[in-house]
Amino acid sequence: MTGLPKRPNSRPARIGVLGGGQLGRMLGLAGIPLGFQFLFLDPSADACAGATGELLQAGFDDSEAARELAERVDVATFDFENVSRQTASALTEKCALYPAPNALGAGQDRAEEKALLNSLGINVAPYHLVSGRTDLLEGLEKLGYPAVLKTRRLGYDGKGQVVLRDQEDLERAWQKLGDFELVLEAFVPFEAECSLVAVRGLGGETRTWPLTRNVHSNGILMLSRPGGFDDALQSEAEQKMQALLEHLDYRGVLTIEFFVSRGQLLANEFAPRVHNSGHWTIDGAACSQFENHVRAITGLPLGETGMTSHSLMFNWIGELPDRDRALEIPGLHWHDYGKSPRPGRKIGHATLTADSAEQLELSARRLAELAGGEFPELSAKLFD
Ligand code: AMP
Repeated sequence: MTGLPKRPNSRPARIGVLGGGQLGRMLGLAGIPLGFQFLFLDPSADACAGATGELLQAGFDDSEAARELAERVDVATFDFENVSRQTASALTEKCALYPAPNALGAGQDRAEEKALLNSLGINVAPYHLVSGRTDLLEGLEKLGYPAVLKTRRLGYDGKGQVVLRDQEDLERAWQKLGDFELVLEAFVPFEAECSLVAVRGLGGETRTWPLTRNVHSNGILMLSRPGGFDDALQSEAEQKMQALLEHLDYRGVLTIEFFVSRGQLLANEFAPRVHNSGHWTIDGAACSQFENHVRAITGLPLGETGMTSHSLMFNWIGELPDRDRALEIPGLHWHDYGKSPRPGRKIGHATLTADSAEQLELSARRLAELAGGEFPELSAKLFD
């Protein structure tokens, strides 16, 4: 493992990013003050990361464009994990890619991902592979109702998955998903969902942020609140994370999402990138996941990951609440991704920071009322 190679001229080091969404944009916002420039590859001419660097407009399966990106940057990374192996390997002919393609591949297929996690002692819910209707019936026999049927590839934010509670659900789900390679999972009756975000840098130095409690609605993350889990669960999560980081010889930020069920951690999935549940780190931690990812892939020393205040993140899906009124709330940090609103689309977030849990709750109540919808009910779950 190495840091950035010496450049022949005096231009600032440039980071290439496959994907130009909000994660790329926040990597840009974190990396620019460190002196880096950014070049994003994205099919969309108005990809929102373009505000923080140059945009190369091309498809993610365009190996030529990936080579061009690689020629113009010193190191590359990605802001979403469904980059094809061909694109990743075209890119690595010309420059270093962190996390490396092995990490990218490991999480793209839910079946391979679960087998890998289990093999490392990171338990997942019981599951059954489904390539045809007979497999599905066999799986249901084994796992029982309720169960969750998911596509093996390309599912995210609750897309490509259906909860099966009875025979009727089964028929509907089969019509929708029957053409795909699938995995059937036991439904986990969880007390909470949480995630661990970690960073591993040059030479294997590793840091983790505190476990973060996540609240979803229809498979989409709505709220994240760090802290609040006991030390035993934190260290269990860290051990599991360490096993995965070492197995992948990983460099950059990695996230594991867990269910907490009967006090035990069961992994749901991992993401080889910065993660929505780590957005609070921009305002609530000594060093954010974005800055530490940039530091890790460029070989810089890692920053501290401790919480600097109580904090809570609200995700804005489909529409933004009234910004000007929101800014009246103490400790509110506004993040507009500059994306056009569309139902179901993540277009921004806000983080609340506070000196005490009581103050955080007061601000969270105000913001939840302002945002409306499900927020009052969902955020109350975080202050039980
Ligand atoms: P995923 O796309 O796998 O991250 O799933 C999105 C969300 O759906 C999770 O965060 C959970 O809220 C819910 N979910 C997914 N799989 C299960 C499961 N096996 N049991 C219970 N809830 C699940």
